[in-house]
Amino acid sequence: LGGSISRALAQMSNATVIDEKVLNDCLNEISRALLQADVQFKMVRDMQANIKRIVNLEALAAGTNKRRIMQQAVFTELCNMLDPGKPSFTPKKGKPSVVMFVGLQGSGKTTTCSKYAYYHQKKGFKPALVCADTFRAGAFDQLKQNATKAKIPFYGSYMESDPVKIAVEGVERFKKENCDLIIVDTSGRHKQEAALFEEMRQVSEATKPDLVIFVMDSSIGQAAFDQAQAFKQSVSVGAVIITKMDGHAKGGGALSAVAATKSPVIFIGTGEHIDDFEVFDVKPFVSRLLGMGDWSGFMDKIHEVIPTDQQPDLLQKLSEGSFSLRLMYEQFQNLLKMGPIGQAKIKRYMTMMDSMTDAELDSTNPKLMTESRIIRIARGSGRPVRDVMDMLEEYKRLAKIWGKMKGLKLQKKGDMSAL
Ligand code: GDP
Ligand code: MG
Repeated sequence: LGGSISRALAQMSNATVIDEKVLNDCLNEISRALLQADVQFKMVRDMQANIKRIVNLEALAAGTNKRRIMQQAVFTELCNMLDPGKPSFTPKKGKPSVVMFVGLQGSGKTTTCSKYAYYHQKKGFKPALVCADTFRAGAFDQLKQNATKAKIPFYGSYMESDPVKIAVEGVERFKKENCDLIIVDTSGRHKQEAALFEEMRQVSEATKPDLVIFVMDSSIGQAAFDQAQAFKQSVSVGAVIITKMDGHAKGGGALSAVAATKSPVIFIGTGEHIDDFEVFDVKPFVSRLLGMGDWSGFMDKIHEVIPTDQQPDLLQKLSEGSFSLRLMYEQFQNLLKMGPIGQAKIKRYMTMMDSMTDAELDSTNPKLMTESRIIRIARGSGRPVRDVMDMLEEYKRLAKIWGKMKGLKLQKKGDMSAL
């Protein structure tokens, strides 16, 4: 996905004349990529129209970095689409709140309920879990197991078949016990069916939740919009959680869920463990959707600065994951060709690195840089110790980026467009 978007952008920045046709070609390419990431067809079309409206063709033609301008426009547009314009209800400590979870069976509700409870427990809340899934055998056991592990009080029954009755009993009991975050897990059934939505409506009416969270599996693809809308029509969904973001799905369905429920995404699930839970942050999510990661700016520089014939060599080192200070030195040499920005800093770094030994330059172990070595390098280069530390920090930062790129497991070595 990121590959085709960067290819589209690269093609455009290579074009000497930017006219309507070049822009359209580029937008079509980006649209194709977004569709592959499960963004709904209609939303892709809207985005395309919006971009055409906001991107000024003349500025684009004159702009030195057309790719940047377009990338920024697509990025901003997708961020806007993920922002419903109003925040969701957030529970307050010491004040009893009821939060009801809805979603299809297998979407990750029970797992996510536990994660949500655990997350708030760590923040000082007194959460409790109520199992109102009487449809699936084993549902109560699953919730009980999660709750016990996390030392969170729970309520449910093996005998009772009325989900509304259990939900009400559970909520009442935990209100009496002064729990301030009462979480109601519900059934999902196998598909979207009238009985399920009627059940959700009844549980919601009986427990009067302060917030209904719609849980959606990130891998459901183009079905996301209809599914989210179906739940929104029976209960007043106020927030969305996207699960299984640790898998292959890029999560384009999140845009659909936000549009269909007019509610924000608040968390994402990133694994089966109770800790695999992250506060949703729009920008990194969109970066992932576009396949550009935090390091997109850095990659752009590599594309622009490093001569094409040297790229395979760099990629080889990249895929081996050995990012030494020497490699950073070589990259800085390349970056110097870029113009005045940051040149002074890089020159300063390189002066200091000139005072380093071969062993120091080739090591990838930051622990090697002991205090005495740092002092020696500072003296040797005539720079303050602070500057050497600063340079080493920069190295650590870049090495981390490198680690991320290594994690991408380049499918075809030597193919930069895979990034
Ligand atoms: P429910 O039917 O909606 O209650 O879904 P469950 O909570 O039982 O989850 C269904 C399956 O998805 C279980 O095997 C979970 O371990 C798994 N699951 C839930 N959330 C995640 C996630 O964020 N990542 C991964 N990899 N698996 C998840
Ligand atoms: Mg469940």
